[in-house]
Amino acid sequence: MKLTITLFISLLLCSSVLAQQMELDTTDHAIRLSIKEKLKARFEIEKKQLEKEFPRRMGKKMISLVDRKEQRLYKYLDKKQLTFDSRFTSFTNKMVEELKNSNAELKNRDLITLISLNPIPNALSLGNDIIIINLGLFTFMDNREEVAAVIAHELAHNVLMHGKKNVIDRVRKDEELSAQQRTKNIKKSKYNTYEQAFDELRELMYSNGKKNRLEEKEADSLGYVLAKRSGLRGINFLSSLEKLAAIDSLPEIELEEHIYKKVFDLPNLPFKDEWLKMESFDEYAYGNYKEKLEKDSLKSHPETVERIKHVKMLFPELTNDSIETTTTDDSFLALSRLAYHASIPNLYFLESYGISTYRSLYRLTKYPENDFYKKWLGKNFRAMYEAKKSYRLNRYVQRLNVEKQSPSLQRFLNFIWNLRLEEIETIANHYDPKE
Ligand SMILES: [Zn+2]
Repeated sequence: MKLTITLFISLLLCSSVLAQQMELDTTDHAIRLSIKEKLKARFEIEKKQLEKEFPRRMGKKMISLVDRKEQRLYKYLDKKQLTFDSRFTSFTNKMVEELKNSNAELKNRDLITLISLNPIPNALSLGNDIIIINLGLFTFMDNREEVAAVIAHELAHNVLMHGKKNVIDRVRKDEELSAQQRTKNIKKSKYNTYEQAFDELRELMYSNGKKNRLEEKEADSLGYVLAKRSGLRGINFLSSLEKLAAIDSLPEIELEEHIYKKVFDLPNLPFKDEWLKMESFDEYAYGNYKEKLEKDSLKSHPETVERIKHVKMLFPELTNDSIETTTTDDSFLALSRLAYHASIPNLYFLESYGISTYRSLYRLTKYPENDFYKKWLGKNFRAMYEAKKSYRLNRYVQRLNVEKQSPSLQRFLNFIWNLRLEEIETIANHYDPKE
């Protein structure tokens, strides 16, 4: 039965007739308005409290940080970078209800759970009973309990008021700096990425954008207690922790050269080999890239290993590793596929047109006739056309970086940057025809 359902869902994925069901519902104007009102009221209270608690300069600075967090959230809302698709919100609301009902720490809180379109499996506690979770959790976690573990961890941060502590810390440190050092502290990047929006918020919550190790451990242990009381099995808590650490960016993909010739050989624009011509492929720099990758994967692990060790020490029942993780169920699998499918348009809404195009091409290698991916390829080209026309393409498409990018990504970026404005427009018109 399960296999049949899986097969059925796979078929759904390829069928353009049913593509509608595979797109996220964006008819959410009324919900967005009401959420905005709710957030406004919530932030008002937060700011009033800070004013009382920290008079003068310190309070002013803290309030300005809250303001930035608030504005960032509204930007998410206004640019439709949050989803209120009921298939996901009913899932998370149910999960949060379960956690609330089994934990006195959460019971009387009016929790606001927002779902961002970000494809990376991650989540963030914004303090004041607001958490934001990324849609990527649904793609990369294997079952609902692993998602519950992440939500419980974030709610633990919220209960422990880590966000506020960090803001106090940050303002205190800032007070010690000279005016000159302060301006240096504000980092600005020219290039828009889906990661950047998340990092911006995270930086507002955590000093230096880095999470405090001690706080992570605290949130792990309280998170585990909260989750366990609502019936979560420890093994899923551990596997969720491992995944969160291992997947901190979209997994690398490799595009084969032939896909370019297939997709970009159009009736009114035959494929040009010169589009793929690269200045030079630097073997030495690529060696550095490989090395960097290996180092990074090692680097990202010790901290997680330490966290797992810590939570196991506190809860000996977690050391029983003969238990298997929960297998996925069909309703979760359906959400997971939906999140995977929607990640292409979502990267577009997050204004990462280059990455969205790159990944559309990858999907088109697998499903050459998929109209959904073709349509979004066209929309991305339309957006890149508008950007290039106003000399702002570098905001949405990375420049080549031989030391940081895989050869496949370099070939892609080189291709995009080699295209002339009118060629980009022709490709956009082909895949996303104007009515
Ligand atoms: Zn955390």
